Amino acid sequence: MPKGKEIVRPLATRMFVLALITGLLISFCTPLTYLGWAWKTKQAETAALAQQIAREAQEIILSNPDDHQQKLPLLNSLVSVYQQKPDIQHLKITTNWSNSESSATTPSPSLFDVTQRVDITFHGTTYGYVEITVTAANVIMSTILLVGIFFGLGLLTNTLLYRLPVGIISENKKDLDIMAIKLKKKADELAHVQNMLDQASLIDCKTGLSNASQSIKFLKEEISKVSYGGSLSVLMLDIDHFKQYNDHSGYTLGDEVIVTISTLLKNHIRNNDLAGRFGGEEFIIILPDVDETRAVVTADRLRASIENYPFPDEEHQPGGKLTVSIGVRTYTGGSLSVQQLIAQVEEALLQAKNSGRNQVAIFQAT
Ligand code: GH3
Ligand code: MG
Ligand code: MG
Repeated sequence: MPKGKEIVRPLATRMFVLALITGLLISFCTPLTYLGWAWKTKQAETAALAQQIAREAQEIILSNPDDHQQKLPLLNSLVSVYQQKPDIQHLKITTNWSNSESSATTPSPSLFDVTQRVDITFHGTTYGYVEITVTAANVIMSTILLVGIFFGLGLLTNTLLYRLPVGIISENKKDLDIMAIKLKKKADELAHVQNMLDQASLIDCKTGLSNASQSIKFLKEEISKVSYGGSLSVLMLDIDHFKQYNDHSGYTLGDEVIVTISTLLKNHIRNNDLAGRFGGEEFIIILPDVDETRAVVTADRLRASIENYPFPDEEHQPGGKLTVSIGVRTYTGGSLSVQQLIAQVEEALLQAKNSGRNQVAIFQAT
């Protein structure tokens, strides 16, 4: 399975980038809008203040239109009164004959200042003007603060969004992992059942020996392995007068005999030999790397073990014993098909039957 983080990270990253862009837009657009509004408000306030000063200056000017010398100190004191206001950077009242200017402040306005100029007029006559410069540093500061707050909020939101999808998908990933484990378990069970079915198709269910098709398959493989100088022996067994046994003792007891004989055969062969049930009461033994002499010895040992086994009801069989006849055919190379080999071993078996049963016969090529 791919790792969970590898699955979820691209989605989370996309959401993160989207949230980041949105956050940045909100973080900058909101303070900029605020800055525009605050700047305009500051300008309007400054203009209103300038107009107020202009009105007061107008009153002084009009109070004694001819005596300019008397008006000058009054205008200067007006300037010094307004100059006390903390925001005012610079204030200048200019008349057609004089200039009253606040001196305690910077004359040149900076980038953070708002300057407004209002004429002093009465009945269409201009007597001078008021020029006022007010600091807008507080507007700039609050805008910067706002950018900071929004940026912080944006970062916080992004962090949460980045974690959220990972969390949700991690949960889904857990479910997927559990499902994958369950599926794996099911697949293992199915493989086990399949294996059992495969085995069942190779095994004879009554005796547990290989069935005929598996025996032929094994024989084919072993024939192909026999090289020059090698040998492969095949035995074919058939129960003697078994019809008679069934007829006398019943089919169930006959079945038990077949199972017992199968066990005896299995017990007398090597691990790499094969014992198969070839027909109803007929068995095949395949002995790789076994020459004719050893094959006959093995066959006779098998025959004797069955003859000596105390089968129930066997006293009713001819000779008072339940016996088998065995045909032997040893293959030492050359062109011979499986069918031909089986036919020849069957021929040897027939020979054993014809020679009186309970014996081993070797295939004789005519
Ligand atoms: P022979 O010595 O010539 O082999 O004589 P036979 O009676 O064994 O031969 P025959 O072919 O006449 O009879 C074979 C009998 O084997 C007949 C059949 O009922 C019996 N048989 C075949 N398969 C089974 C089986 O699975 N269970 C039982 N109980 N009997 C079986
Ligand atoms: Mg038979
Ligand atoms: Mg028989």
